[in-house]
Amino acid sequence: MSMAWEIVNGGRRIVVLVGAGISTDSGIPDFRGPQGVWTKDPSAEKLATIDAYIREPAVRERAWRNRLTSPTWDAKPNPGHMALLELEKRGVLELLVTQNVDGLHLIAGHDPAFVVEIHGTMRRTVCLKCGERLPASEVLERVAAGEVDPPCKAVTAAGACGGILKSDTISFGQDLVPEDLQRSERAAVSCDVLLAVGSSLSVYPAAALVPAAKRRGARVVIVNAEPTGYDHLADAVVNAPISEVLPVIVGTYRPEATD
Ligand code: ZN
Repeated sequence: MSMAWEIVNGGRRIVVLVGAGISTDSGIPDFRGPQGVWTKDPSAEKLATIDAYIREPAVRERAWRNRLTSPTWDAKPNPGHMALLELEKRGVLELLVTQNVDGLHLIAGHDPAFVVEIHGTMRRTVCLKCGERLPASEVLERVAAGEVDPPCKAVTAAGACGGILKSDTISFGQDLVPEDLQRSERAAVSCDVLLAVGSSLSVYPAAALVPAAKRRGARVVIVNAEPTGYDHLADAVVNAPISEVLPVIVGTYRPEATD
């Protein structure tokens, strides 16, 4: 832990890559961990596949029911999120790239200019036909009122759009937003510290930011409850509960040498 502290506190241009592990202490289950949504119910992964979502009304209906009852709406940022905000306040955060769609970094208080939500956000919906984006709460009110698969109500030259609505997240089978990926890659290859938090580092292309940063000379710190696929190239690895250790690693006082 003291090595991780030393590296993070020596960083002047820090890129943080965040995964679902940071939000489990806010009550939002991850996907692939031991208690993960997809670990416990592999069929749920289909809800995140764009082809099935477009083709099967039953998949959309189930997805809307899940969104309506998602623990995300009541979740609050935890000390792990607040520790990352501290990096921004100190002026050493180059960019925070999050794989999470829960919006908790922005709720914690980050300037959106420092945050790339590389897999999108649940807090908006997007129409797959006309592209209109709305606050998710507006559409979820319609679901709560009984619309099991609410269509887009935007009015176009041809009349009501009627397109399929979806969370404004990147589903399996969809490409990332090119500008978001390019911005993340540029930051990763010019940072002096890459801090990976709460990610199994198994989902690409986001995970590729870690070796990209390392090749260009950045020091790499990995904080995750379980080992990751890139532990071997990290300068420090901390396997411990994130909301407990991240405030220490980012904190003012150097922890006792245990590594
Ligand atoms: Zn539309």
